[in-house]
Amino acid sequence: MDRADVAIIGGGLIGCATAWRLALAGASVVLLEAGDVNTGASGQNAGSLHFQIERRFLENGDALADQAAGIVALSRLAVEDWRGIERELGARLHVAMKGGLMVAETPEQVALLERKADRERREGLSVETVDGAIARTHAPYLSERILAANLARDEGHADPKAITPALAAAARAAGAELRMHTPVDTIARHGAGFRLGGSSGWSLATDRVLVAAGAWTAPLCARANLHMPLYPVALLMNATVRTAPLVPHLVQHVGRRLSLKQTYAGNLLIGGGWPSRLAQNARGFDLSRKASLIPDSLTGNLRAATDTVPAIAGLDLLRSWTGVTAISADQLPIVGEVPRMPGLYVAAGGSAFTLGLTFARLLAGAMSGQSVPELAIVSPARFEHLNGFMG
Ligand SMILES: Cc1cc2nc3c(=O)[nH]c(=O)nc-3n(C[C@H](O)[C@H](O)[C@H](O)COP(=O)(O)OP(=O)(O)OC[C@H]3O[C@@H](n4cnc5c(N)ncnc54)[C@H](O)[C@@H]3O)c2cc1C
Repeated sequence: MDRADVAIIGGGLIGCATAWRLALAGASVVLLEAGDVNTGASGQNAGSLHFQIERRFLENGDALADQAAGIVALSRLAVEDWRGIERELGARLHVAMKGGLMVAETPEQVALLERKADRERREGLSVETVDGAIARTHAPYLSERILAANLARDEGHADPKAITPALAAAARAAGAELRMHTPVDTIARHGAGFRLGGSSGWSLATDRVLVAAGAWTAPLCARANLHMPLYPVALLMNATVRTAPLVPHLVQHVGRRLSLKQTYAGNLLIGGGWPSRLAQNARGFDLSRKASLIPDSLTGNLRAATDTVPAIAGLDLLRSWTGVTAISADQLPIVGEVPRMPGLYVAAGGSAFTLGLTFARLLAGAMSGQSVPELAIVSPARFEHLNGFMG
């Protein structure tokens, strides 16, 4: 039987980045990908590098917002990981970190921004609250409706089509083996390690496994007889035609679903968490088929964009698409070793374009036997009770 020190399931940003880090550290690594590299959420996303606390953590009361504030410590590490990645990989990834504005249009939203900035400052993230007039001196493209903004100097965006293929190339160059069109169907205990297998008859023995399969992570954990509270969600993205430089920042809205940026090529990318509809079959959600676009999401998303940046109303929409990612039961990512199954690691859920490089670097340390306290806030241990009845 084939063997490797580490098997990684999933060729998205997290899987490829972890394969690279572990191979650099000298481990023998096999990455197994059902399709091709970057065909999951990592290649479909908005490319936002958002280090401010996300709006979705603020809309469900102070308890969740306080809990989520702990993620800022990881965001601060992610700032450094993104700053260095083009140099480390020797690749052009269109990383632009020219600052980010989270805007507010009503007095209630302004109060939300102020509370958010307090939480962030307590966690060591430098965020400034400015009124609408000052926001427009930084960002003249903003509408007069904007009453205030939180300004985070390090935010920005990068090219989702470039980063994961570059990480995959770096992983291969460092000695990792990346096997495409190799879906994993079984994960079983084998001595102190694991045996993975596929329906075409292959099997692989390994000491450690990382399940980094995005929206498919929960069904894969079920193959290892584990519950993992991760749920697929389908989101909408839109791109306008190219235009002259207009928006150098990442723009988000504290009270409406909106993320907005201009790519290196000149297109405006508009997203922010508007829902699409997951395909279904007789057994439930069908992740093998594309999610469908919801017309009300499209109009709502574009309305939020043109209300915030009026010049967008003059640009044709070039393309809209749907992408599928995973969200956890408490909205925080689930990253780390599963206490009930030593040697099995999980990484999924949340905004892992922004945080994926950091998760990978920390996971590679944890999987090499180092103590990594930074991952405590996202550890699967917080859901261990769900596996208390699994034989
Ligand atoms: C529309 C959209 C916009 C987003 N915008 C942002 C953003 O702006 N900023 C941000 O931080 N995050 C964003 N996200 C989230 C981000 O894209 C994901 O968190 C991140 O890409 C997850 O990467 P991953 O490597 O975990 O998973 P994925 O990229 O989904 O990769 C998982 C891989 O696992 C493979 N796989 C599945 N089952 C198997 C199997 N049985 N065997 C082998 N391989 C398997 C899949 O084929 C896939 O390639 C967005 C997501 C979406 C959908």
